[in-house]
Amino acid sequence: MGRVGAFHDGRLSGFHHRTSECPVGQLIPRDRRLLGTGGKPLCEECRTLLTVQEQTLGTGGTE
Ligand SMILES: [Zn+2]
Repeated sequence: MGRVGAFHDGRLSGFHHRTSECPVGQLIPRDRRLLGTGGKPLCEECRTLLTVQEQTLGTGGTE
């Protein structure tokens, strides 16, 4: 599903991404993607997306 290994833009500094659904991560050309966090913090969009996924797919029936 959306969750992938961490990747980041090899050229620009900034954040690393952790979901293929991240609109920011999708802007990084495939040939510039490097695996790992690059020592960068998690992208805010990814953080939001992953939180939503966990709430949707998680324990179920919290609401
Ligand atoms: Zn991201």
